[in-house]
Amino acid sequence: MIETKTIWFDGKFVPWKSAQTHVLTHSLNYGTGIFEGIRCYPVESGAYIFRLRDHINRFFESAKPLSMKIPFSKISLMRAVVETVKRNSVLDVYIRPLAFFGYSKIGPNPADSPVQVIIACIPLKVYLKKKFIKVKTSPLLRISPRACFPHAKITGMYFNSAISSLDAWKSGFDEAIVLDEDGNVAEGAAENLFIVKDGIVLTPRSEKILPGITRETMFKIFKDLKLQAVEKNIALDELLRADEAFFTGTAVEVHSLGQIDRTKLPRKNPITQKIQRYYQKLVRGEIPKYKKWLTKVSL
Ligand code: PMP
Repeated sequence: MIETKTIWFDGKFVPWKSAQTHVLTHSLNYGTGIFEGIRCYPVESGAYIFRLRDHINRFFESAKPLSMKIPFSKISLMRAVVETVKRNSVLDVYIRPLAFFGYSKIGPNPADSPVQVIIACIPLKVYLKKKFIKVKTSPLLRISPRACFPHAKITGMYFNSAISSLDAWKSGFDEAIVLDEDGNVAEGAAENLFIVKDGIVLTPRSEKILPGITRETMFKIFKDLKLQAVEKNIALDELLRADEAFFTGTAVEVHSLGQIDRTKLPRKNPITQKIQRYYQKLVRGEIPKYKKWLTKVSL
């Protein structure tokens, strides 16, 4: 992790190293934090934060299952994100808002614990370095939607992603793919999945996954590029027979899969490349109709 100067912590800017909390913090012990991942892209005249409002909206939605009352308004957090980027003077960054139940009493019920919020910026150029990544199916299934809230970004739920990526990494793979209870492909450890078969884009339905903001952006891109897209259950076997496959996510952007377990996918990925190029233009404000999604940061 490359350190930046300052982290916004409960409304104040503190030096990176001073952004600390007690070891008995409720969320550290019980996984009751909620978080976001937002991307900021440098452009000639400053930088653009991509879909800030949507990320902050999802942040507040993630807090609901935990009855967590975030002690800041959406607008003040949006302003704090912009200010955090500015003060750190690094524009190619991944922005991490995190809200957590602080230190109060022992036991899983967080009701009496104070809610604390931080916003950090982490310099990030490319999340996954290889052009075609190797992914491994996880030995764990995605947690059932009856046992968790897949649409929320709750820290505790990410043990599933952590174990999946760790398992992939130990076997020399770049990332994990997680299947759902029915054996269908769900998503990556922190990415949504798309495949291309016979010119049609297919992606798992949204019920059992985090329906990412990048995934939602994809549907607009498919329309613009006149690509047919279908949400459906995708069996692992269908993924292995795909013409192209790619991950999407705020950090990973649009990234091609080259291998799933022992199966190599074709190295020709014309449709993915078209989507990648369009996405890179879109997030940098080069497609006027999507400028509404960009928040300007001027230094
Ligand atoms: N699925 C999971 C489990 C994730 O953690 C992420 C990253 N937030 C995604 C999908 C992609 O979501 P987004 O496009 O909103 O970053």
